[in-house]
Formats: sequence, C-alpha cells, structure tokens
Amino acid sequence: MLVKGVVFRLDSDLPSEAKFLLEDFRLAVNNAIRAGLQARVTSRNALSKIAYKSFRQEHPDVYAKHLVSAFEVAGSALKNHNRRMRKGVSCKVPFVKRLMMKAENQAYELDREAGIVDLPIRAGCHVNLKLVVSQYHRKYLDDRKLSLGSLTLLQDRVIVAFRKEAPRPYAPESVLSLDTNERSLDGVLVGTDSSEEATVKALFPDVAIIQLRHHDRRRRLQKKKSHDRRTARSLCRREGAREHHRIDHRMHQVANAVLSFAEKQKSALILEELKGILPKRSKDLNRRLSMWPRRKLHQIIEYKAAWKGVPVVKVNPRYSSRKCPICGRIQDSRMGAEFRCECGWRLDRHINASLNLLQTAISKGLDVAGGLRFDPGAFQHDVMMILYEPAMAARSEPNGTSCIGERA
Ligand SMILES: [Zn+2]
Repeated sequence: MLVKGVVFRLDSDLPSEAKFLLEDFRLAVNNAIRAGLQARVTSRNALSKIAYKSFRQEHPDVYAKHLVSAFEVAGSALKNHNRRMRKGVSCKVPFVKRLMMKAENQAYELDREAGIVDLPIRAGCHVNLKLVVSQYHRKYLDDRKLSLGSLTLLQDRVIVAFRKEAPRPYAPESVLSLDTNERSLDGVLVGTDSSEEATVKALFPDVAIIQLRHHDRRRRLQKKKSHDRRTARSLCRREGAREHHRIDHRMHQVANAVLSFAEKQKSALILEELKGILPKRSKDLNRRLSMWPRRKLHQIIEYKAAWKGVPVVKVNPRYSSRKCPICGRIQDSRMGAEFRCECGWRLDRHINASLNLLQTAISKGLDVAGGLRFDPGAFQHDVMMILYEPAMAARSEPNGTSCIGERA
C-alpha cells in the first residue's frame, strides 16, 4: 500500500471545540508516553491495555477513537525514543509540544466534493472544517482509486493521507539510465531503435549552493550568539527548517521532471545504489553535505515512481566513474570533466558513468521487448536534452504540499 500525505490549509480559524480537542489530545499523548515509559511498552495495544481505563475517566468527553489514536502517536514517539537510546544518543523523555491530533480513517469523514472535514469531538458534537482546495488538491480528491487514510489536524492545516495499492509497473519500451551527482542527474535514454537515443540532464546547481550558504549562516549565528545558547539554537533550528524546505522543494521538482519524461518514453529508470554509511565526523562535512541530497533525491524518485508505476532498477555503481564502456579498461583515478581512454573513447564524465550503469543493468538481465539497441559513439555527438533546470521552477506545484511516503 502506498500512502501520500497531502496538506490542506484551513479556510477559516479552527473552531474552539477543535482547539480544546487538540489540547486534550496532546495531554493524552503525553500521559500515554509517561505510562508507556513506566510500563516499558510501546505498542498501541499494550498502551491502551494499561492506560485506557484511567484515560476514560480523565477525559470522559473525548471520542473513544481519538483516545486510541493518541496511544498510537504516543507509541511511535516511544519507539523513536527507544531507538535513540539504543544508538546511545542522549535524549530527554519525549514530550509532544506541538498542538496536533491524528484521527484514523473511521474517526472522521471527508466530503471530497465540497472539501469539508467532519470531525467528531464527543458524542453529539461534531465540527466541520472547510479546506482550501486548489487544482493540485483536486487531483487527489477526485481520484476515486485513492482511499482515505488517517487525518492529522494542526492549528492551521490538516494533512490527509491518501492511499492506493501500488500499481503494477508498466512493461518498459526504453531505458533511462541516470548517474546521480552533486549538482545534476546525467544520463542516456536508450530504446529499441538507435534513433531513440539521447543524452539527458537534470540540473540542480543551486542545491549545493543553498546548503553551503545555510551552513555558513548557521556557523556565523552560533559564533555571534555564543553567549546565548538558547537563542543560537532556536535561530539555527529556524535556519535548518528553511534550508530543508527549499532543498526538498527543488528535489521534488527534479523528480517530477525526470518521472514525467520517463513516463512519456515508457522507460525503466536505472539508478545507482547509494550505499555507504554517512560519516559522522565534521571533517567529512563536505562529503556528508553532498551525499545527503542525493539520497533524498533517490528516495523521492523511487517513491514517486512506485506511485506512478514507473519501473526502477538499482545497480551497483562500482567502477562506473572509472570504466571505459567500449574497451572495459578501468582508469586509475577519476579525471576532469571529460572521460578519456587510451582506446580513443571520450565522453562527458557523468554521461559516461550512466553508460556504465546501463551496461551493468543489461549484464544483470535488464532488457525490453524488441531488444535495446544503441550506438555508444552517437552519445558523443548528441544534443543534450535538459529535463530540468532551475529556470523551470515557475511551473511547479504550489507551496505547502509535501509527501510522506511509506510502504505498508
Ligand atoms: Zn577504452
């Protein structure tokens, strides 16, 4: 099952009954966390076994299903806490500060035509929340193949989880092989006819720049506010959230551009397996900074591909940046912008890597009906197709949308 969280702004202020519900819910979550810590349990069922009765007495008004989902939220906070403890990260007892509540799909109703949420507060008391619905939201509301999952209510917005069975990936008619780099995705499109082949690039040069700029800014903030650690921390956190937002947004745009191209060409997507543990030491900071968005980008691409039914093949990138796809020689070290081999082969370094990924995939048995046909030499002269560049940003999805993916 695939899940996508879609954010809706509220058309008007939250009614006071709903505000009280948010506060009750938060209280219930925090109490359940304490009860769970004492009894050393984390599952929703175990929590409700030990705490439901006393909760019912403390919150006689709250709709029973909301209490159960408070146990669920508390359970996941406890699980995260335990994971951090196991890793040896120092952490305080978890405490939910933000006003929020989660309702399971039987505990609310959504009028998909009108965009109105009917949320029960207690017996005989419901509130209606009118959502702001844009064209982007319509895509989800009107698609009847999507069923409704949980609803998360915050002070100014709700997040509705839409669910669907993972569609079966289509049978590919071509292959789009992409090498993932710090500032771009670079690759080749190969079909059953050598006239279909092309070199492609999706460019996101600004991501590394945004990261560096925010990194510098955070460092400067820390120095400037070194006498006031609390202010420094909160300013840094705000910086971090902003950075995260901007990069995330760009990665979604890149992924959308790549996937709509793959969909149009009926391509299978080849990506490299990005393995390796992220270094923790700050001396490797540059490497860490450059690894993070690539993985993030892969996550987004893979998730969106599963949602759209675009087949994705991951291959081991070993030697992909050092091998000659024509004669098979492996160069001692990476070179400049152009890959050059003694046999006379030369090609853009990144495109060359994507050819190697393609060959690895083919050697592992990837093929398409009709057979893949391509002439590597042609990639030396092909015109580059740009799938994405920052100038295209204007034609993007509206803000305030995000994607929480999980496969269940
Ligand atoms: Zn060679």
